[in-house]
Order: sequence, then C-alpha cells, then structure tokens
Amino acid sequence: MKAGRHGGTVGPGPGFGAASSDVDRVMDGIIAVIDAGRVFLVTSHVRPDGDAIGSSLAVYHVLRRLGKEAVVYIQDKIPDMYRFLPGSESIVHRIDTPDRFDTVFLLDCSEMERIGEEYKQLEKIRNIINIDHHLSNDGFTPHALIDVGASSTGEILCRLIKRLGVAVTKEIAVNVYTALMTDTGSFRYSNTGSGTLRLAAEMIERGADPRFIAEHVYETIPLARIRLLQSGLRTLRISEDGTIGSMEVTRKMLADEGALPEHTEGMVDMIRSIEGVVIAVLYQEMPDGRIKASLRSKGTVNVERIARTFGGGGHLNASACMIEGDMAEAKKKMRAAMEAE
Ligand code: 5GP
Ligand code: MN
Repeated sequence: MKAGRHGGTVGPGPGFGAASSDVDRVMDGIIAVIDAGRVFLVTSHVRPDGDAIGSSLAVYHVLRRLGKEAVVYIQDKIPDMYRFLPGSESIVHRIDTPDRFDTVFLLDCSEMERIGEEYKQLEKIRNIINIDHHLSNDGFTPHALIDVGASSTGEILCRLIKRLGVAVTKEIAVNVYTALMTDTGSFRYSNTGSGTLRLAAEMIERGADPRFIAEHVYETIPLARIRLLQSGLRTLRISEDGTIGSMEVTRKMLADEGALPEHTEGMVDMIRSIEGVVIAVLYQEMPDGRIKASLRSKGTVNVERIARTFGGGGHLNASACMIEGDMAEAKKKMRAAMEAE
C-alpha cells in the first residue's frame, strides 16, 4: 500500500472488490466533480502507448455518455497502430483554451510534467483527477485514484466506470481492452491478475474483438520498423555474465531506414526475452539529441529505481528516463547506475 499525500491510493490486491472505504471516498469525490463539471480536458503522457490512448478515449466516451463536453489532448502524434481506436480521430495536440475546462483527467501520469511542454496550462484548470498505476506516483492531487498493483490505468478506470453506473459501450470496451492488452504485454507480464483477465473477458462481452485488436496493434508493423530492428540488432551487446542486454538506436539509423522514433516500441522487450538476460536497456537518441534509456527487467530486479536516479520512473520491471550527454556518456552513466543496483 502506498501512502499517498492525499490518502487516495489503493493497495495492490486481487481485483478492486476489496476496495477500502478510503478508495470509495476518493471515487465519490471524483464522481461529484464529474457531476458538477461541464467541459473536461482528458490527457495523458508524451510518446503515448496503448494504455495512455485507450484510457483517455475510454474516459472521453464515458463523459460523452454523461452528456459532458470532452476534449482529449495528447502532445505527441498517435502512432498509426492505435488509429483504429474509436475516437482517436478527435484527439488534439494543442491546448488552445485552458480556461474553458473546469476539470482535467490526467491519466497514466505520475506527475503533471509527463504530459509534455504544456503541463503548466493544467494549473489553470480547477479540478485535477489523476488515475494512474505508476510506482513513482505519490498522489499529488486530492482526486487521485492510484493503484500500483493494477495492470494498467484502464483497469483502475473500469472501477470508476462501474461506480458511475455508465454502461460499457463497444467504443469503451475496445479502448479498455487495448489498454489492458498493451500494458500487460498481451497478458504475459507479472501485472496480469485474475481481475485483469475477468475485465478483459467482460470487455469482449461488450464488443471488443481480441483478434481485430491484436491485428491492428501487433500485425500492421511498417516495414521501416522491421528494418530499424534489423539495424538495431547489429548493436546488440550482452554483458560477460549474460545478464545485461543492450541495444542502441541513433538518429542516423532512423533516417537511414525512414523510421520514426515510435518505431523502437517493443525492441527492449525483445532484448529482455533473451535467455539469461535480467536487465534489458535500449538507448535511443531522441530528436533533440538527448538519450532516452528504456529499461526492462525480469523478476525482482528493480529498474524503476535505476530510472529514478536519472529523473525518470515507471514500474518495477519497466521504466525509462532521459540521460544528458551523448550516446557514449549516457551508456557509461547507465552502466554505473546498473552496477550500483
Ligand atoms: P518505455 O520504455 O516503454 O517508454 O517506458 C517504460 C515505462 O516507463 C512506462 O511505464 C512509462 O510510463 C514509464 N516512463 C517512460 N518514460 C518516462 C519518463 O520520462 N518519466 C517517468 N516518470 N516515467 C517514464
Ligand atoms: Mn500504463
């Protein structure tokens, strides 16, 4: 159980049935804010993944069913593989009029800065509702529904949807199922609980088609992404003892293959899948020249702590951070941090 500053956190556990009265109180507070609100901003983190986009769009559809006005803002482009998500065409990439919104849903973010450069705009919005499952979230807003034991933000969101009494439409189901599926690595990671699978089953009953969704997310890979993987694999290094695997992707590699920064998705998971590897790192040169390190681990090896030493964060087995310096310096700093861990 995490002790949130505002007491709105939920301990990890089997499903949400065991919700404490604390959680009920926070949910009721959120429901009161929703009832009273009229215009909502819904937002999530930069370089959005399936949970960020799926959760945001699920909230969007829920709010619309409640007769509210809602705008989904995500700073970065929506990766093509998520364009099939119902409502994705309505996502905007700029906050033009923050004063219009009485409430913001901040999803899958452990801090405001995660939404990108416009995060200061959120301070102009009266109510902030934060729903998240990251370890590094300390419950920075009074309306915080945080469960570090939940598979995804989508999973936590469903508990709120149920308490709100909103019927789960196909649009909601497809978005929630995608959030669950992507954040659990297709129901393989340790965050996959029986409650996650029950919820996934419920989403299928409400119209989510697992085959259709998997095909869009996993089987529409642009050739450039495979070519990038091909050149990335040539940089694969395994430590002498076989426990640390790393790979790098430079701006030049992206340019040579005609690939986009988002095309590195999944590479680090592939490194972790190597027998004997317990920590996997992908070093990616970002458009601004900084190096992003994506970390994955097996078992109890805590990569969230490593990312946090560089100002990043995430989960025990999956985290990321930005490292100052060029590729060589970044690798050196990261190697030192990993040795310390
Ligand atoms: P990925 O390597 O897939 O980009 O990120 C892995 C995990 O780390 C995700 O759960 C993501 O939310 C989190 N994460 C990625 N980048 C950052 C960051 O800059 N700051 C924090 N706090 N978490 C991050
Ligand atoms: Mn997530």
